[in-house]
This record gives sequence, C-alpha cells and structure tokens, in this order.
Amino acid sequence: MHFSNLESLNSLSQSISLKNLKADIPSISTIARTADTMDLEEIRSVGIEIYGKARKKKMFEPCYGMWVGVVDAHEQITSPYCRCPYCRNRTITKKDGVKETQYYHEFTAFILAGPKISYILDIEPVLPGQGELKSAYRLIDRVCRNYPKAFKIVIGDGLYLKETVFNLLEKHHKYAIAVLKEERRQLFEEANRLSLLSEPQIYKRGKTYYRVWDHSICGCWDGYGKKVRVIVSEEETHKRVHSKDGKSFEKRVDRANWMWVTNLPCPETYNLGDLKNTVGVSHSRWQIENQCPGETVNIWNADHVYRHSKNAIMVFLLLLFICVNIFNIFRIRNIKDRSIRTKIYLIDLIKAGFYTTRNPLPTIPPIPI
Ligand SMILES: [Zn+2]
Repeated sequence: MHFSNLESLNSLSQSISLKNLKADIPSISTIARTADTMDLEEIRSVGIEIYGKARKKKMFEPCYGMWVGVVDAHEQITSPYCRCPYCRNRTITKKDGVKETQYYHEFTAFILAGPKISYILDIEPVLPGQGELKSAYRLIDRVCRNYPKAFKIVIGDGLYLKETVFNLLEKHHKYAIAVLKEERRQLFEEANRLSLLSEPQIYKRGKTYYRVWDHSICGCWDGYGKKVRVIVSEEETHKRVHSKDGKSFEKRVDRANWMWVTNLPCPETYNLGDLKNTVGVSHSRWQIENQCPGETVNIWNADHVYRHSKNAIMVFLLLLFICVNIFNIFRIRNIKDRSIRTKIYLIDLIKAGFYTTRNPLPTIPPIPI
C-alpha cells in the first residue's frame, strides 16, 4: 500500500477485491486491528537492517565530509474530534472568529542528512502534556544506541540548546549543533559583542557571500559549564528573479543572519575549509526541514491517519518511512531509464505497475540495495 502510494486502506481494500487478492492479503480490518498491537521495536529492527545493508554498500554520502543527524518535530493534524487518549490539542481561531479545538498527533524525527537523500532513521511520539524535548530526548537516546556509528554530529533548532541534550549526546560520543536565538541572552550578547571586536572570515560559496565569525565562549551558559563555539554567519545571496510586472528580470539580494552553538572542537590551526564545512553542515537542518517532512506529506501522504490509535499511527509511519527510504536509495542508485526524471513519475510507474500486474502476484525479486 505504501510503496504503491495507494493513500488509504480503503483504496487497498478495493484493489484486494478487484484483483482477487483475498487469499494473499489480509483484509483491511485485520491490517488495521493488527496495527494496534504490532511491536514497534520489531519494525524498527527492519529499519536498522536496511540501514546496515545500505551503509555497507556505500549508498550514503556524508555532508561536507561529516556524518550528520538532524532532529526535528513534525505534526500530523488529524481532526476536530479527539479519537484517542494520546491526541494533543490546541485552540485555533478561524477566519470568522470562531474558536475550535484541533486534535493532532506530533512526533520527533531523526534524519540522517546527506547531499542527495535524507534518510529517516526513527521517530518518537510527542505525548500529551509533554514537550517536544522529552520526546526528542528519548529519540536521540534510542537512535544513538541503535545506530552507534551512523553519525557524529546532531543538529537541532533553538529548542535543543539545552545542557540535557548536549550532555546526552556527549555521553554517546557525539557532538551537538543548535541554533542560537535571542532568548539565550548571555550567549547571544557575548557573541554579538565579540563579533563587533573581530574581523569575520569572508568567502563565497555558490551564489552566496558569507561573513563568518567563529567565537570560543566560556562561562556564558549556566548549566553546561564547558567551552562552546558560537558561529555567526551573515549571508547574502544574489538572485535573478521575475520583476513584478512579469515582463523582465530584476536582481534581488536575500540576506540572512545565522547563529549556532556547538561543542565541536576548534581546529588546532586556522582552517577556513573546516569553518566553511561547519557552516554548510549547520545549514543542513534547514535544508531538510524544507525538503524531507514536506515531501513525505505531499508525496507520500504521511499526514493520512490509516488507523487512529497511538500504536497504529506509529506502525503506519514507521512502515511508510521504511518504504520512502528504500524508494529514495533505489531512485538515486538504480534508475537506468533516462526518461524517469522525477520522483512523482517513478511513484506513478510503481502505482501503475501495481494496478496492472495480474494475479497471482509474481514472486518479488529481492530489492537490489
Ligand atoms: Zn489521537
């Protein structure tokens, strides 16, 4: 169902009866009921095995020479009705001023960042009454144990600038990078003060001009107590865009300011290459945020609730991400047909293949990963 992008148990049900597959596939009510009690650890172990094979065959590439994991929260909006005890809720105000309670499920995801594909390693639900950090803490701890050598650095947004997160990662011999926001006043102000006193490194990468400072700061983060690096990056990207009248082009300059805190060790000697890579790696979270969850929702229907229970939601998502991971590896490694250029087209081909294959289904050859 996930691989063929059938979008729902209902459409699977139709295929089962149309294609006369009743003897081969359990009924959708059995599938849904089973999902309530399936062991998540068993599904995760399938994911670990696939990762192991793919890594061994060198199907992943590091980000700027570093193996990087990204942790972030995503939500699945479900409905205006609460359906299970694990629904989170919030009040939203609609356009006409009417207030409505919205029920949703949220989870944190751990993604292995790469230049070509983002590989989803694991997810963990955010439970009602708990924040994203608690879920992320459980997730990071489990991923570090299940994938001890997969990554060296973990990146998160401003929320992850917490001593608990930095210390947890240190315990697993990993480094952390977190976005520095104004709320962390002491560190923020110290970094700004140091930036005024020193000259930045200036370089160009692609179409973007960078002015980057790399400060070593001690004693401005109560609770952590160790020295950290604060990297400040002022970026200017020159773009050629359509003008407002739509008849010609005009030049536009996009400016962005970034600040990150990390416990990555400073290189012993001055090294611009290292700094460029650290800035590149720090940006990978932002690239993934734009690419990965959006894609799984838009293309793969990750926001569809196949069965509403705490366990079933996780089961369908974990299985979906296994499919998406295999699909992504397959796409970048095995497509010899030059006419297949987009993901959507390949997904459509798989779907068409599923619809047109005669019953009995042929024995599926092992997936060449
Ligand atoms: Zn629920």
